[in-house]
Amino acid sequence: MSTKLTPTIEDYLSLLLVLERDGEPVVGARLAELLGVTPPTVTNTLKRMTRDGLVTMDEKSGPRLTEQGRAAARSVMRRHMLTEWLLIRMLDWSKTHSQAHSIEHTVSAELEEALQNNLENPQLCPHGNPLPGFEHVVAHWQPLLDFKVGDRLLIRRVHELAEQDPDLLAFLEAHQLMPGKAAQITEILPFNQTITLLVEGQTVTLGFCVARYIFAEPH
Ligand SMILES: [Zn+2]
Ligand SMILES: [Zn+2]
Repeated sequence: MSTKLTPTIEDYLSLLLVLERDGEPVVGARLAELLGVTPPTVTNTLKRMTRDGLVTMDEKSGPRLTEQGRAAARSVMRRHMLTEWLLIRMLDWSKTHSQAHSIEHTVSAELEEALQNNLENPQLCPHGNPLPGFEHVVAHWQPLLDFKVGDRLLIRRVHELAEQDPDLLAFLEAHQLMPGKAAQITEILPFNQTITLLVEGQTVTLGFCVARYIFAEPH
């Protein structure tokens, strides 16, 4: 990879990588929503990325990363997560993602390697998401909605798409819903679309739309 990619292109790459990894459909409207831009902007950027050999466009299945695009995306993702580990030494857990998001684009290959060594090759980011190549580490963790009332669990992961919402992260941190914390499910109300947990002696209620992004294992 010789050409320097812009921060915008790098943002698209890492988002496409997450959606592709999770087997999520990649449609323009969804990308626009997740990136906070308009659908025509997404179309234009994807055209540029196609021209540059980073994605291929398919009428039915939408954009797909090329081998070159995937390699670039994995590098952005790795730089992002290593930067999060660096920043968590001085920032709140809930603030590391957004700060790392603006710094990640300036991290050189040399710094990336230094971070990786200094941080002793982490497999997960501080939110429990896998660095590229370590997807197997998180594979058996289940979303909160897979558990039953009374189940005791260990919170393991707050999904990348939830990381994008600073208010949500601040809420989760305030209620200790973070990787490594033990919790128990006390109530699930399907008609209300809510799940209630006891975490560190405190009760916290989440909507199903948030709970699907939080993963845990039996404890
Ligand atoms: Zn992040
Ligand atoms: Zn993270």
